[in-house]
Amino acid sequence: MTKTPDTTTHQSALVPGSAPACGPVAFVGLGVMGLPMARNIAAAGIDLRVHDASPQACDRARIHGLKVSGELAQGLEGASTVITMLPDTPHVRQVVRGPDGVLARCTQGTVVVDMSTISPLATQELAAELADRQLALVDAPVSGGVRAAVSGTLSIMAGGAAEALARVRPVLETMGSATYVGPAGSGQVVKACNQVAVALTIQAACEAFTLGSRFGVQPQVLREALLGGAASSWVLEHLAPQMIDGDDSAGFRIALQVKDLRIAVDAAAGQGMPLPGASGALQLYLEAMAHGQQADGNQALARVYERIADVRIATP
Ligand code: NAD
Repeated sequence: MTKTPDTTTHQSALVPGSAPACGPVAFVGLGVMGLPMARNIAAAGIDLRVHDASPQACDRARIHGLKVSGELAQGLEGASTVITMLPDTPHVRQVVRGPDGVLARCTQGTVVVDMSTISPLATQELAAELADRQLALVDAPVSGGVRAAVSGTLSIMAGGAAEALARVRPVLETMGSATYVGPAGSGQVVKACNQVAVALTIQAACEAFTLGSRFGVQPQVLREALLGGAASSWVLEHLAPQMIDGDDSAGFRIALQVKDLRIAVDAAAGQGMPLPGASGALQLYLEAMAHGQQADGNQALARVYERIADVRIATP
C-alpha cells in the first residue's frame, strides 16, 4: 500500500467519553458467519440490534430471538459500535457511505468494526473518511470459519487505532480472540497474508497427492507418511481427508477463496510487486469456478488437479 495511514489523526478522531465502552451495538450482515457471531454477542448480554438486506436473513435472526431492524437506518440509531460482516468491499462501502449508512446516521465517537474480508486500500480510505467525521474504524477480519463463529473462538486480526480497539474489545471477546496488528488496513493485510498461506498450503497438498497418485501411491498412505515429517500441515491434517474421500462440501467456499486471493494479488499489483504463488493459485481456483465449483469447499482444488493432470486423488 502506497498510502500510509495517519494513525495519529485516527486516534484523535475519537472524542474521549463521547460514547459508552461498546454498546449499544448494531450488527449488519447476518450470513453464515454473521448470524452465529451476533448470537454470541447477544448471549453475552450486550445490547444488540441486527440488520441484513435480505428479509430471509432477518427472519432467521428473529427465530433465534435477536432484535431485528428491518431498515439499516433504524438499526444504526443510537449505536456506539457498528459491526459489519458483509461479503466484499462494495457492500461495506454501501453500509458506510449509503444514504442511510454510517456516515449519514452515526454520531461522533462511534466505532465501526468491519469484520468482513475486504481490500486493505479501501479500508484505509474508509478509515480516513470516518475519521474526518470523528468516527473510528477498526478493521477486524476473522479466521476459523463457521465452526469458530458458532463456538465464539474466531481468530480476529485487528487494525486501526489501538484506543478504538480497546473500546470494542469486550464485544470482540464474545466472538473470539483479537490480536492488534497495526494501523488502519493492517488487519486486512494480515488476513490477505493468511489467505495466501492457506491457499498455497492447499495447493501443495493437492500437488503432492497428484504426483503420488500418478505413481500408484495410495493417498491415505501418502498422507500418513507426510504427517510425520516436515511437510505436515493443518491442511494435511484437516482438509486432506475430504480431498481423499471426494467430499467437496464447504467449509470455506471457493468463491470466497477467489475473492480473497484477488484482494491479495491486487494489493501486491498496486505496489508493482509480484505474488507468483498466489497468482498461480488464483488461476487454479478460477478453473474450479469455470467448472461450477463456486459453492464447493476450498479443498475441492483436488478436483482441479484431477482434471489438469488426469489422475484420481479421491479413492472410491
Ligand atoms: P454470506 O454471504 O453468508 O453473508 C453475507 C450477508 O451480508 C448476507 O446475509 C447478505 O444478505 C448480507 N448483505 C449483503 N449486502 C448487504 C448490505 N448492503 N446491507 C446489509 N446486509 C447485506 O457471507 P459469509 O460467509 O458470512 O462471509 C462474510 C464475510 O466474512 C466475507 O467477507 C467472507 O470473506 C468472510 N469470511 C467468511 C468465512 C466463511 O467460512 N464463510 C470465514 C472467514 C471470513
